[in-house]
Amino acid sequence: MTLAAAAEDRPVTAAIIDGKGYAAGLGERIAEQVSAFSGHTGRVPGLAVVLVGTDPASEVYVRSKGRMARKLGMESFEHVLSEDTSQEDLMALVDRLNADETVDGILVQLPLPRHLDSLAVIKAIDPAKDVDGLHPLNAGYLASGLPGLVSCTPLGCLMLLRSSLGDLSGLDAIVVGRSILVGKPMAQLLLAENCTVTVAHSRTRDLERRVAQADIVVAAVGSPEMIRGEWIKPGATVIDVGTSRVIRDGVTRLVGDVDFAGATTRARAITPVPGGVGPMTIMSLMHNTLLAAFRRAGLAAPELW
Ligand code: NAP
Repeated sequence: MTLAAAAEDRPVTAAIIDGKGYAAGLGERIAEQVSAFSGHTGRVPGLAVVLVGTDPASEVYVRSKGRMARKLGMESFEHVLSEDTSQEDLMALVDRLNADETVDGILVQLPLPRHLDSLAVIKAIDPAKDVDGLHPLNAGYLASGLPGLVSCTPLGCLMLLRSSLGDLSGLDAIVVGRSILVGKPMAQLLLAENCTVTVAHSRTRDLERRVAQADIVVAAVGSPEMIRGEWIKPGATVIDVGTSRVIRDGVTRLVGDVDFAGATTRARAITPVPGGVGPMTIMSLMHNTLLAAFRRAGLAAPELW
């Protein structure tokens, strides 16, 4: 029996976690706080986004980040540099943005062209303006339980988990994937919520058994539907970060790391792809920019979630 057929035979148990709706509500709260910030300081938070080269997907991301910042009342500074930009010129731009008082958040769109050293660029960003949360100092703050700036996608995932489950304390969680961008910070966030956390990766043995024990599954691999519906523990909550383009019946579709149809017959709640984690990533970036602006101005940051 195919997974889809299996899903038809079993009742759907899962509520759909509406990332798009949650992100819209968060956006309204951010916009209110942008006004409050401007009332206190006489200026609005500023987000600088740097794009090197002409990668079409990166161009779309950068445009949508700028558009969202403006929609929420922030200032957006977009710096588009040519593909052959030197390391020196990129570092000089980062230095200028670090020194610019109107810039609260700096995001360098990754991946950079191969001749550029991404880590050196990330390390050059003022950690107080590192709204992508990728600077080693911010990763260290997160691991140490200190306030810093947290990588946007895992932060958005945690917001969705809290909104769906409330208190996460004592739950068994598995994070599949251990990237610096998603898996590792996600594991740290869940640990800080008092979950018991397993981090799985490409060398993990018997992934099925480990997934089957988890109350929370966060999948961040980039392998279409590799986590099968029947692996999911009945009543688990599933956050699917993965996005892969696949061609089915001649149509290109975006699918996650989890077999959605199968998982909906076992999980208590699950994020869809698209419409789950994706909208939260960009809104978390806006959240981080607002947070950075309040902190840099010496103001108490508002609680937004
Ligand atoms: P990544 O850097 O490529 O990391 C993938 C991780 O998956 C690695 O840790 C890898 O393990 C692990 N992995 C690979 N094959 C595996 C397997 N068979 N079993 C278990 N783990 C396996 O990717 P990423 O940047 O974290 O992104 C992951 C996915 O999330 C991608 O599809 C990406 O497009 C998506 N994403 C979505 C958003 C969003 O806003 N929706 C944001 C960010 C990322 P090793 O470390 O052992 O190689």
